[in-house]
Amino acid sequence: MNRPKAIVIGGGLGGLATALRLAGRNWDVTVYEQGATMGGKMNSWTREGFKFDTGPSLLTMPWIFSELFESVGEQINDHVRFQPVEPLAHYVFDDGIGFQVSASLPQWLKTLRNLEPQGERRFLEFMHLGARLFTLSVHTFFRRSPFETPDREALVALRHMPFRRAWGRYDRTIHSFFKSPHLRRMYERFPTYVGSSPYHIPATLTLIPFLEHAFGGWYVKGGLYCIVESLVGLLEKRGVALCTGQRVHRIISRKEQIKGIELENGAFHGCDVAIMNGDASLARVLLRQPGAIALSESDRSLSCFVLLIGIKCRLSDLAHHTVYFSADYREEFAELFNRRRFPQDPTVYVSMPSKGDRTIAPPNGETLFIMANAPANDSDAWDEQKIASARHRVFQRLRKSGFPDIERDIVVSTVWTPRRMAESYNMPGGAIYGTHSHGWRRAFLRPPNKDRRHRGLYYVGGSTHPGGGTPTVLMSAHITSELIRKYEGA
Ligand SMILES: Cc1cc2nc3c(=O)[nH]c(=O)nc-3n(C[C@H](O)[C@H](O)[C@H](O)COP(=O)(O)OP(=O)(O)OC[C@H]3O[C@@H](n4cnc5c(N)ncnc54)[C@H](O)[C@@H]3O)c2cc1C
Repeated sequence: MNRPKAIVIGGGLGGLATALRLAGRNWDVTVYEQGATMGGKMNSWTREGFKFDTGPSLLTMPWIFSELFESVGEQINDHVRFQPVEPLAHYVFDDGIGFQVSASLPQWLKTLRNLEPQGERRFLEFMHLGARLFTLSVHTFFRRSPFETPDREALVALRHMPFRRAWGRYDRTIHSFFKSPHLRRMYERFPTYVGSSPYHIPATLTLIPFLEHAFGGWYVKGGLYCIVESLVGLLEKRGVALCTGQRVHRIISRKEQIKGIELENGAFHGCDVAIMNGDASLARVLLRQPGAIALSESDRSLSCFVLLIGIKCRLSDLAHHTVYFSADYREEFAELFNRRRFPQDPTVYVSMPSKGDRTIAPPNGETLFIMANAPANDSDAWDEQKIASARHRVFQRLRKSGFPDIERDIVVSTVWTPRRMAESYNMPGGAIYGTHSHGWRRAFLRPPNKDRRHRGLYYVGGSTHPGGGTPTVLMSAHITSELIRKYEGA
């Protein structure tokens, strides 16, 4: 009997995970990736003994990764080694105050008591809200496509909505729990995990800091790209065709039934289902729908400006993850979303995975991932002058916050601008998470995992339901592969 055939458009994490789940159910799967390597935004760059992750630097909810491996009869520990990060992060503020968030609850409660007299009680209440939101999400949002009729489990869970402080705006809920300006600022940062502003997203997303406190932050020995490499190995073992440097030019649908895809070189490949892992908004363009355009600028999540830097000295005092806050966070987000420009004074995130993993840097060196948020604009050319200006602002913030002077110790470096991301991963303006999550509709009614019109067309990845970030993308792959089982009968 002929095996059903699936074509995955894009070899990002969600595309690879869906391919693996389908291959495990005996589908004949081909992945077409336009880039030179698999992994999409979860990618890697190696130079002169320095190995960098170019995208994700921190993982949460590690069991979601384990579940993917288990779905095809594998144990994750046989392939990659997850390591807990401690402290979770070090935060440095413009007024010179700094503190570490420990994954150890007693340690963190001690820090909280110093920051705010009622801090411990308020934090526990905050975690209680997070726990309720998490339980609700596990039974609804994380498990199912929003447009599927809710089953009994989802209905039972939904009965418990609404609850106090889960409605309204994210920053207001944070302010209702915490009085310390430093705690408020620290928690206001988490919406950037979904490329959004704390001043516009719904309070329900207070779930994000809960996940980090409750389940920790994780790193993978050898770099997070090892996850992609192990998925590629598993896919090859199961006979999945992995084609790099092949851009899908068109999705062919006849009488609203998917027939196949056409590559840029004109070759046609037939399939029973096509799964779009590139930005969901681009499927309409690939289907040649009249008037179809990519995601509009005002709907886009944040992009970023990243410097990958290898240095020939050790920075023993620096934590694995450090955030250096700008002087005026509200102004920074007004610049990013309203005035759509790179901030004058950006908040800068520095990840130094070589702190605990000496396999990714030369003996006397460190690998630094330095990132600031940037708007996802089409018109920003990101020429040398703009790059130099953004770099200057990033280093100005670092210097002001007491970061050591590393300029003379730089051995290797490269820069990722929104433009480079847009071109490398075919993502509108370099928006990392597709649509932002401002307002209920955008946060919770993201593009569905199954096309409403074309039979046989599905979606997976950060731009679709349930959203961006690596564990969420793996949930998306689970939801999509279950929809394929339901609607295609295999
Ligand atoms: C700088 C940065 C930092 C991040 N930090 C974190 C973090 O710390 N923790 C975390 O969990 N997440 C983080 N993320 C987000 C995370 O990387 C993404 O949410 C996730 O990797 C996206 O996976 P995806 O399945 O949506 O695929 P993507 O990575 O978006 O890949 C889609 C792929 O489709 C390909 N494609 C598009 N169109 C076509 C076409 N027509 N034909 C062929 N191929 C096509 C693209 O080239 C791309 O490779 C970060 C992302 C970035 C960029």
